[in-house]
Amino acid sequence: MIKVTKDLDAPPPILVSGSTLKKLEEIMSAQQAAGVKSRYNHLQVKQALDKIYFNKCAFCENTITCASPQVEHYRPKGRLANDPDHPGYYWLVFEWSNLLLCCPTCNNTKRDHFPIAGQRVKAPPAMDDRRADAASMRAEQPLLLNPELDDPDEHLHFEPSGRIMARNGDIRGKVTIEVIDLNRPILIKLRAAVARNLVDRFREQLLMIIEEYADLNAFFKDYFQSPQKIVRDFRLLFSTLFREAFMDLSPSLSFCAFRKALADNFEAYVIEVLENEYERILLGLAWEEWCNGSL
Ligand SMILES: [Zn+2]
Repeated sequence: MIKVTKDLDAPPPILVSGSTLKKLEEIMSAQQAAGVKSRYNHLQVKQALDKIYFNKCAFCENTITCASPQVEHYRPKGRLANDPDHPGYYWLVFEWSNLLLCCPTCNNTKRDHFPIAGQRVKAPPAMDDRRADAASMRAEQPLLLNPELDDPDEHLHFEPSGRIMARNGDIRGKVTIEVIDLNRPILIKLRAAVARNLVDRFREQLLMIIEEYADLNAFFKDYFQSPQKIVRDFRLLFSTLFREAFMDLSPSLSFCAFRKALADNFEAYVIEVLENEYERILLGLAWEEWCNGSL
């Protein structure tokens, strides 16, 4: 999960059109949101969310490959899990700040869950108090992280295996992981593949360095006498590698938060998992020099 930037004052026109507002009036009278999918699920909404979320799921950050990404209501519109008396937040069915882009699996897992720590809003607040950042909405103290309002990095962190964890036992991080099932096996597998690809990239380059030598003996002679000399001799290769690895943090990439965790914890998550000691030593030295700015 990464924080995204959405202009809450600029909803797609379909969400504020005359006919949609008329429909909202009907919904308010009926106190239930039914037969409205064609509006919040409109192509305009999907395209706008697609740009904001880089065609990735708001929760799991996997790129949405299916033909039809799903428009998810952060606050459920029809009913609420664990609260049968609540009608659902029907008044937010067309509310731009309540709509996120979601993959089908996260959407199906979250369903009608919306746990809070504060006071539940059970009836529609005034029109100008319905945005996700409005006082009445904030007073609910949602436990589910909202990538448009919260910085997930403050609540979540990753293990090198690809498992996502609540940062320092953070309750919102913990609840979000549970409600969305962010450690389902396929997600761990995909994140682990990202880590493996990065490690493999460094290993391949280290092997190329050996190939530059006439034979293994020549390499290890240098290695035992002065591994720093190898790092200096291959300065360009190492600096290119680091630069490319850390440029690779564009929010448009799947699992960007995990890629960032690999970069932020480079020693523990990348260097330490290299199998051979010479790989760890050389990359460790190169990393030190890169951090000192002397590579
Ligand atoms: Zn997802």
